[in-house]
Amino acid sequence: MTYDDYFKRTVEQLKDEGLSREIKAVLQGATGPWAQIDGKRTLLFGSNDYLSLSADKRIQAAIEEALEVYGSGSGGSRLTTGSYMSHEALENRIAADKGTEACLLFNSGYAANVGALQAICDKDWTVFSDRYNHASIVDGIALSGAKLSRYRHSDLADLERRLKADVSEKKLIVTDGVFSMDGDIALLPEICKLAQAYHALVMVDDAHGMGVLGADGMGSVSHYGLKNQVDIQMGTLSKAIPGVGGYVAGSKALIDYLRNHSRSYIYTTALPAYVLAGSLKALEIVATEPWRRERLRALTAYLRHGLLEARFNVLPSETPIQALIAGDAETTVALARLLLEDGIYVPAIRPPTVPKGLGRLRITLTVEHTQADIQCLIERLLIHGKTLGLI
Ligand code: PMP
Repeated sequence: MTYDDYFKRTVEQLKDEGLSREIKAVLQGATGPWAQIDGKRTLLFGSNDYLSLSADKRIQAAIEEALEVYGSGSGGSRLTTGSYMSHEALENRIAADKGTEACLLFNSGYAANVGALQAICDKDWTVFSDRYNHASIVDGIALSGAKLSRYRHSDLADLERRLKADVSEKKLIVTDGVFSMDGDIALLPEICKLAQAYHALVMVDDAHGMGVLGADGMGSVSHYGLKNQVDIQMGTLSKAIPGVGGYVAGSKALIDYLRNHSRSYIYTTALPAYVLAGSLKALEIVATEPWRRERLRALTAYLRHGLLEARFNVLPSETPIQALIAGDAETTVALARLLLEDGIYVPAIRPPTVPKGLGRLRITLTVEHTQADIQCLIERLLIHGKTLGLI
């Protein structure tokens, strides 16, 4: 058997189980409510560009200006020759917006989670991690060598039982702020109380809360008014902030420590200046245009009302991520395929990303969706949901 035979056989097995991953949709143009997919005008309910800023002309102008001045590459890692004034400006801006002393940029949200957890924790730590946390958190914990204690999703009794039973001196509780595949918000006030009682650090991954939640758009931590109680606020610059990059915000002591220990920060080329300029402009828009968050809330309520009225199994969520449960992998994929034939793209999410039997359409809304777009989705779902026996 050749190695290629081995690779092929493994993928064939996934195909047999309905779990193989293939790229089905290639956008031809900016992400938005309507996109060109395979040459066809398609209604898109899958983008994380929640605030519809990806095609914003103000952001594009800021990027073009920086590109002109600084060029396309940063030329080095942050600790060698790749640090620009704009890195510092963006770090200061995020720290100020998040209400922390300092902030450190990473090249992606994935790199931020992996780099922070690897640097902070070692075998003397226990990390208490919600079962539904993002894969980058899971990978960061594995890389750190810390003891992993996975508590049931948002189950505070389970979390407390584990905290009580644990004997390690150093403890970290880590949770998504908004769960990426379910859309629900973590129970942060209760988690912070437990952290205080058991002398644990709290880390929140606000990849999907940033720009969307809180009066100031600063995410789930701001939503609950907990800015001074969450020790580590991590997030991405790739969703509501429509670029690329990740960050960790926290105390100056923490950030100095990460700058010295975080391998995914140290051993990689720095983000180029034009990317930073785009994120800085986007943060300005997040702060000054709260109407975008209000519109998202109204659209979310409209969609939920329609789906629940049709008696679909939709998970509880007040965010623009709405999970419509379809069940097994085959039904999930069939539903997504029928919608795509109608010109509507909604990503089908299957195991191992979500638990077995909880395959789902992950419907996401953006500011530029209209009620008519949503109505169109609901009408097609009603037809296909009946065909597949979901309602
Ligand atoms: N955390 C969560 C909760 C996410 O959903 C994602 C992206 N899917 C990440 C981290 C990683 O962020 P990035 O895409 O910027 O690497």
